[in-house]
Amino acid sequence: SFGDFGALIGAWGEEKPDARALADSISEYSWREVALATARIAAQLQRDGLQRGQAVAILGTSNIPYALVYLAVLRAGGCAAPLTTSATSAQLAAMFKDSGAMHLFVDSAKLADIQNVALGDVKIIMLDNAVGEHPALTNWMAEQDAHFDATPPAATDPFNIIYSSGTTGTPKGIIHSHAMRWHQMAGGFKSIYTRDTRSLVSTPLYSNTTLAVFLPTVCHGGFARIMEKFDARAYLDHALTDQTTHTMLVPVQYQRLMAHPQFDSYDLSSFIVKFCTSAPFAAELKADVLQRWPGGLVEIYGMTEGGVVCMLQAHHHPHKLHTVGQPVTGHELIVLDEDDNRLPAGSKGVLTGRSPTMMSGYKNQPEKTREMEWRDEEGNIWLKTGDIGIVDEDGFVSIVGRAKDMIISGGFNIYPKDLEELLEQQPEVAEAAVVGMPSDAWGETPVGFVRLRDEAASPESILARVNGQLGKTQRISMLYSIDEMPRSHIGKLLKTDLRALAAEKQN
Ligand code: ATP
Ligand code: MG
Repeated sequence: SFGDFGALIGAWGEEKPDARALADSISEYSWREVALATARIAAQLQRDGLQRGQAVAILGTSNIPYALVYLAVLRAGGCAAPLTTSATSAQLAAMFKDSGAMHLFVDSAKLADIQNVALGDVKIIMLDNAVGEHPALTNWMAEQDAHFDATPPAATDPFNIIYSSGTTGTPKGIIHSHAMRWHQMAGGFKSIYTRDTRSLVSTPLYSNTTLAVFLPTVCHGGFARIMEKFDARAYLDHALTDQTTHTMLVPVQYQRLMAHPQFDSYDLSSFIVKFCTSAPFAAELKADVLQRWPGGLVEIYGMTEGGVVCMLQAHHHPHKLHTVGQPVTGHELIVLDEDDNRLPAGSKGVLTGRSPTMMSGYKNQPEKTREMEWRDEEGNIWLKTGDIGIVDEDGFVSIVGRAKDMIISGGFNIYPKDLEELLEQQPEVAEAAVVGMPSDAWGETPVGFVRLRDEAASPESILARVNGQLGKTQRISMLYSIDEMPRSHIGKLLKTDLRALAAEKQN
């Protein structure tokens, strides 16, 4: 069963009109104001010819206007298509075209990034202030009490199109249906979110990571503070003032917060649950969070495509912090070898999953969709995650890395994680990353990058020490020191950038 997410927004406006719903650095909106503004935007979208299920693209900083448009699109029966703000102009043009949107809501600072797209009849509405003939959202939306058609969506109607992070290539458009989103927001989270939830949102709204907390907060009639940009000090101040109960942070944000000199002087006892997802979360960091930050800690492993979700309730499983937990109810997970054969428990292989929240396919990319699919003996379709992992005897899953990052050297498989862990055990090393580079002698060879704790430390001596502990087939051929690891807006390590850097250094 599923419900009408759009209708809930109007309903909360009546149920708790004066309660806070949204806040950003500029203003605060009550539920009445959110219900009113989203109704006015929905009415204007429909006057402008928005069809049921049609995409509406949004490109901009995460703030209240952005959130209002997102929610209004759903009230109007459309499909939200948030575009990745860090994407290049060419990628944005591709995403926009792929989405099939006829409306683009954009920040004036981002307009130039997308203006060179042949936009045709597309209507551009500015999220902040009017630019040329493009109106500002506040002037464009319909008058108060304007009528809009609020026919409930069908289960398979598209809720949103989210573009994958593009960590391993061009971002892929993934459609989430209303039924799938409802399952995520209301099903799995029923006991976690309530009308008293106060969430602190500090990752960008276009990312599925952020939506995993933002949408259930809205759906349950809670309050969400949206930060335009993450800053450890500002985050802690907001948490204290708002008495935050729920949050989603990526590992690098936990790292910054725990390292903040004032962290322990903040009273963070209002927290009920903190989530983490998107990238590997070190066991030591989880242990530190559990010790110094009150409330539960839940790690989620999943992908925008859906299909497999594991959850680790870290506070209940202190001995399993090296894992991402077990598949949640309704999700199944198996491990396949490189030739797509099912492997027995305890083997290392490609994690492959199936669930009611699996996407039905990439938008406009049947080839890519087929590449990710695996059929079992009964013809059921599973989704290959592209991640390598192991399921232990208790059913807890450890992530070893991405299949695309695996290094094949002299016929041997080398998992970068093994080398990264060894490098990070060295006292001079704060953080390490290993990538495979082409090699005439070996096919591929591991090249390492380290962020040093002490500038004076020598990568050469670290390399010699580490290689002394590695088998001949695993040795790292070069080790470079780097000031900052390249990361995406949601904190994913960009190994493609590291490979480019290694190539540059080798020339
Ligand atoms: P693209 O598919 O475009 O290359 P992406 O895979 O990074 O990018 P997302 O769907 O945002 O796009 O991310 C899903 C991936 O993130 C997973 O396949 C996995 O590699 C990684 N990931 C997610 N959660 C975790 C976690 N808890 N621990 C380790 N890795 C994780
Ligand atoms: Mg992916």
